[in-house]
Amino acid sequence: MTRIAYAVIHLKSLRHNVQQVRSAVPTSKIMAVIKANAYGHGLLRVAKKLNDLVDGFAVARVQEGVRLRKAGFKQRILVLEGFIETEELQNLIDYGLEVSLHSWHQLNILEQQVEQKKITIWLKIDTGMNRLGFKATEFHLVYETLKACDIVKKPFNFMTHFANADDKKDFKTQQQIQLFKELTQCCDGEKSMANSAGILAWQDSQTDWVRAGIMLYGISPFPDSTGKQLNLKPVMSLHSHLIAVRDVLEGETVGYSGTWTSQTATKLGVVAMGYGDGYPRYAQNGTPVLVNGKRVPLVGRVSMDMITVDLGLNSTAKAGDEVILWGENLPIEEIAACSNTIPYTLVCGVTPRVEIIES
Ligand SMILES: *Cc1c(COP(=O)(O)O)cnc(C)c1O
Repeated sequence: MTRIAYAVIHLKSLRHNVQQVRSAVPTSKIMAVIKANAYGHGLLRVAKKLNDLVDGFAVARVQEGVRLRKAGFKQRILVLEGFIETEELQNLIDYGLEVSLHSWHQLNILEQQVEQKKITIWLKIDTGMNRLGFKATEFHLVYETLKACDIVKKPFNFMTHFANADDKKDFKTQQQIQLFKELTQCCDGEKSMANSAGILAWQDSQTDWVRAGIMLYGISPFPDSTGKQLNLKPVMSLHSHLIAVRDVLEGETVGYSGTWTSQTATKLGVVAMGYGDGYPRYAQNGTPVLVNGKRVPLVGRVSMDMITVDLGLNSTAKAGDEVILWGENLPIEEIAACSNTIPYTLVCGVTPRVEIIES
């Protein structure tokens, strides 16, 4: 059957991108963040490729960790959101998963656990993100409580997460690093601060472990650069085909609500790709699309199954021709910027209708 809309996952690029992490942080261990179906690239597919290349995995939810264990992965796996009830904690223990411990709610459950097997925890300190974690003022009390908690493997580990690391000029990151170091400097146990932006822009954040997410997929964590400019290679490219080419006259509108009007007579290409595939609904007029390798502008509203592009009056493109929505020669960062979003949402948002092809 002909493939209409499909995404290609370039597994070799994963290896290249891990090498880029290694050269940025030669003395740190790498935890590959593969939450949310490996940022839309396929959890098990990506884990299999990364297995021998990284030192551990991180996922958001217990179920993601369990899925990795059931598939046979033996690596250390950290569950970033932790647990909210006893059964989840039991799953973490049974499957040998490590956990980010960020609340008194969790600590109370831990203390009630009668299990003999110990659990590896990462004490999460809130150094300014104000999302998950214990505040600096609570640190010593939590620390002592955990030391006295039988089920917690000693020494336990420490982590924090940056709020603004993608802004290289924002002094908040340095404050977060400073606070984390002050609180944990006398503690044994492993430490982890950096996400992709930390790895690339904040050298002081490179401790025992880094948590590399978006850059593994070849995407820049910064709003002002592309993965290519950082010597990363995109892992996902998104493809489809022209399904129709039509003539329009000057002054005609296109698509729902007529948000674009042709300034001259031209040819329009209709592409089988829409928000039902994960293409961003808010992509503006002018968002670049590659038709037969040539950049043309998106025109009119993105609909569920289709977009329209202005091919130009002299175009020879025809139904069946190849279209690329993002990939090596069309940075996803650019598509995100044209859609008032970040590339993270684009890769995570590709829907099950899109066929995945490994390359
Ligand atoms: C998602 C996540 C990361 C990875 O962030 P990137 O910007 O994708 O590198 C690291 N740490 C935590 C706690 C996360 O939730």
